[in-house]
Order: sequence, then structure tokens, then C-alpha cells
Amino acid sequence: MADELSSSSLQKGYVIAGAAGFIGSHLVETLLGEGSVVLGIDNYLTGRQENISHFVSNANFISIRGDISCLEDGCFQSARQFLESREFESTYVFNFASAASPVIYQEFQIETLMTGSLGTKNLLDLATETSSRFIQASTSEIYGNPKVHPQVEEYHGDVDPIGPRSMYDEAKRFGEALVTSYVNTRNTNAGIVRIFNTYGPRMREDDGRVIPNFASQALSNSDVTIYGDGKQTRSMCFVADLVRGIIELGNSTFRGVLNLGNPEEITMLELAEKIIKVTGSRSKIVHLPMSPGDPERRRPDISRAMKVLSWQPEITLSQGLDLTIPWYREQLGI
Ligand code: UDP
Repeated sequence: MADELSSSSLQKGYVIAGAAGFIGSHLVETLLGEGSVVLGIDNYLTGRQENISHFVSNANFISIRGDISCLEDGCFQSARQFLESREFESTYVFNFASAASPVIYQEFQIETLMTGSLGTKNLLDLATETSSRFIQASTSEIYGNPKVHPQVEEYHGDVDPIGPRSMYDEAKRFGEALVTSYVNTRNTNAGIVRIFNTYGPRMREDDGRVIPNFASQALSNSDVTIYGDGKQTRSMCFVADLVRGIIELGNSTFRGVLNLGNPEEITMLELAEKIIKVTGSRSKIVHLPMSPGDPERRRPDISRAMKVLSWQPEITLSQGLDLTIPWYREQLGI
């Protein structure tokens, strides 16, 4: 009984790479809210100090500036000490460090490839050597311009290895292969999450992705820019739903890959009209050339996540936009 009591009072310990990023900062915040202890690593290429400013003084949070693609970086020593020197109920390493916006990873092409390859390897070694559960943030981009719709995990994708999105797509595909090899040959306790389009507060207004662009444009009554005819589709998941699924994947023993996303599919034209409406904007829609390599449609099949994690999204696009637009209003001072 005494043993049960003392073990149940132990906390979980998490190393979160990409802690100051959009998804990473929401993950950290939720984990701290659950009473876990978190060491966050970020190199601030796309992450922002202000994303973590409201919990940076939490006694259960340690924030470190570091580059996971560089093994000599002091962040690894700190992370190892953190995982080994304290008594935790269980320990976790989550790899959420990467640029994820096409505009940004196309600017930082080699950094994106190094983070996805060397960075993933360094974190996998850390997790394996400290017997921590490892979660890899992968992406629906590994399906490329999909020939199978909706996308099931068994579909292998259609990616051009030297195409305009290859630096991200291939980094993430390599990451999945590397995680799988660690599971196979080193018995690493790892799961992979393929994240579909996600949105919410803290996705930078200058990020270049569709909801930050449309929300900022609509709020400032400037032209809403649709690339191509706007018939391409995406399925948008609110960040809180995604984070809940990721934490559940961490808590599970599932070793393999699963999709997380909201199957509510919408064309970019419909999305633009919806955002103009909910912001009460006077913006006009303008069409710009389609960016090369832009997938025509995307929608997750989430049967596996429903079965393995009993997870499904709860927040509709309309509800999620109501939770997101005020944040952009504040950022833009409107
Ligand atoms: N998009 C758009 N206008 C913008 C930004 C994006 O029409 O200002 C389109 C883009 O061409 C793509 C979709 O919105 O078809 C989603 O783009 P995003 O960059 O958010 O993510 P992706 O799913 O392409 O990685």
C-alpha cells in the first residue's frame, strides 16, 4: 500500500523538442496542466518565446535553447540529466522540432532535412538509452499528392524526391523509416503520428499557411489570396484535438504509425468564404498562381486512431475558428 501510494505520487517526465513552436507549445501547456514535468528544447528558428511566456515560470518547466540536429549541443546533456537524475513515473521524448510551413521549409531547406534526419536520430538515441517512450511528429505530407482518398496509413504516398516540397516530405519519410528501424533493431518504444492540417492560436500570422493567411487578410480587409482555383481541399483539425490525440498516443503502447486529423474536408474557396464571413470582413477573394507541388486533396482516414486510442476530434471547424480568430485579432492589434 505504501509503495502504491509513493509510486502514484510520481510525475511523468517529458522532453519536448520544438517546445516553443505552434504544436509543441500547446503540448507543453497541456502536459503541465496534467501535473507532468517538461524539459522543452527549441532553436527558435520558427518557435517564439512568447508562445511559452505564460508558463515559462512554472516550476515544472525547464526551457532550453538548443539545436537537435547537432549532437554536441548542450541540450542533449541537459535532457539526459533531466530524464536520468529524477525519479519519474515514466519518461517520454517527443520530436516536434521542425519547420512545417511550405513557405518556411522552402526557405530553410537544408536545416529542415538535417532536423528531420540527424535531429530525429539524436532524439531516438536519447529515448532508447534512457528507456523513454518516443513519439515522432510525422505528417500527411508523406502521402504527397495522394492517389488514394481519404488517406489510410497503408497508402505509401506519391512524393517526388526532388520536388518543391521534397526537403520536408523526404525528411519526414526518412524520420519514419529511422523510427521503424530503431523499433525493429533496438527495441525502442516508439510511435509515429502523421499530423494532418492543424490550426489554432500561436500559428504565426506570418507563417504562410492557409488559416494564418486568410485570417490576417480578412481581419485587415485586404485581399484574401487563393492559390489556383481554390478547388483543392484540406481537412482542418483544431490544435487542442490534435494535442489530446498525441498525448494519448504517448500514453499507449502502440508501436507503429497512425493518422491524426479532422476528416471534415473543405475546399480552399469555401474556407476563404467562411473566414471572410466569420470575421465580418470586406475583403475580396483574389486568385494567385498555384504553388508547385501543392496536393489537390487531403483528408485523413482516422479509423486506426479511433480503434487504438479511442480518439476522434470534437471541435468543428466553425467552433475552432471562433477559438482562433480572436488570437489573430490580438496579434494584429485589430
Ligand atoms: N493556400 C491558399 N492561399 C494562401 C495559403 C495557402 O490558397 O494564402 C492553399 C495552398 O495552396 C494549399 C492549401 O491552402 O492548397 C493549404 O496550404 P498550407 O500552406 O496551409 O498547407 P499544406 O497543406 O499545403 O501543407
